[in-house]
Amino acid sequence: MYIKPSIAQLAPYVPGDQPPKSKSLIKLNANENAYPPSLVVEELLRTFDYANLRYYPDATSQSLRRAIADRHSCPQEHVFCGNGSDEIIAYLFQVCFEEQDSIATPYPTYTLYKTIADIHRIHTEYVPAQEDYSIDVEALVKTNAKGIFIANPNAQTGLLLGMDAIEKLLQAYQGLVVIDEAYIDFAPAHASAASLVDHYPNLVVLRTFSKSYSLCGIRVGYCLADRSLVMALDKCRDSYNVSTLSQAMAEAALKDQAYLLSTVQRVIATRERVSQALQLMGFSVLPSAANFLLCTPPHDQAKGMYEYLITHQVYVRYFNSPRLSDKLRISIGTDEEMDVLLSLLSKYI
Ligand code: PMP
Repeated sequence: MYIKPSIAQLAPYVPGDQPPKSKSLIKLNANENAYPPSLVVEELLRTFDYANLRYYPDATSQSLRRAIADRHSCPQEHVFCGNGSDEIIAYLFQVCFEEQDSIATPYPTYTLYKTIADIHRIHTEYVPAQEDYSIDVEALVKTNAKGIFIANPNAQTGLLLGMDAIEKLLQAYQGLVVIDEAYIDFAPAHASAASLVDHYPNLVVLRTFSKSYSLCGIRVGYCLADRSLVMALDKCRDSYNVSTLSQAMAEAALKDQAYLLSTVQRVIATRERVSQALQLMGFSVLPSAANFLLCTPPHDQAKGMYEYLITHQVYVRYFNSPRLSDKLRISIGTDEEMDVLLSLLSKYI
């Protein structure tokens, strides 16, 4: 069977350990939400007429796009829905870049940008974060790449790039700017670039139902963008890219903003408590605006800790790459789960 050499040479994308699903296991390695989805979603599933599944889904997710547009007070023509925001990232590469073009992105960041760029034979120019892991916006602009991808808050570090810096970037740079706000609901208020989409036609803001809405299992993401880009995305998407159930569940979840707020606030409160506790144990912990903490344990113990935690059924993410040497990334679980983690770590130290 012929496989294109450019694909054959790629390493498969590995999202991290995928431990067996078990109630006794504490899974803090994939930045999933600690809490279940809204009861409005459960109610929808109970009353859903399964006979409708013999019909294809609404190809353009109209009702969901309308609900998202209402939520952001923007025209519906600015909204595109995908099978997870990962799918939208892949479509952006198809729509906006030619082979041999380049994109720029800070390092470290969400590794999928480079994986998809590689699939499309697009070069990724990594711009190293500064010593304190903050993003060097000027250096990103100077690359002259055709597009810039920024996860904000940043995946891996949890650090937030301020709106001032984002506006400065948009004023200095005419190429495609993707601000991936997968974790933005865990950040302080008014940190989102969503309202800038009206003013900058080269800006795409990516969002997902996977994190703050606790719905990574249904695979729904969306982007806000200029209508010409939304039209282009519609031309290359899979014919029915978001399933009927996924569209309905995402729309149900959007209705329950009170639940979203309450779970997000619980996650933030736990994040701050755990960050303090880790620092008291001698960890250095980056200030996070997301639902995880990137930390360095004392005395280069990250690998040993990671393995010790697994023997106690607790999974966190271990990093040992050039800018992320000997670090743990710990997703924020429930208070009870985090107490188990802290007690295991204090015994290990
Ligand atoms: N962007 C970032 C920064 C992420 O960390 C993730 C999930 N790990 C995604 C996008 C993908 O989200 P989705 O589940 O919507 O595909």
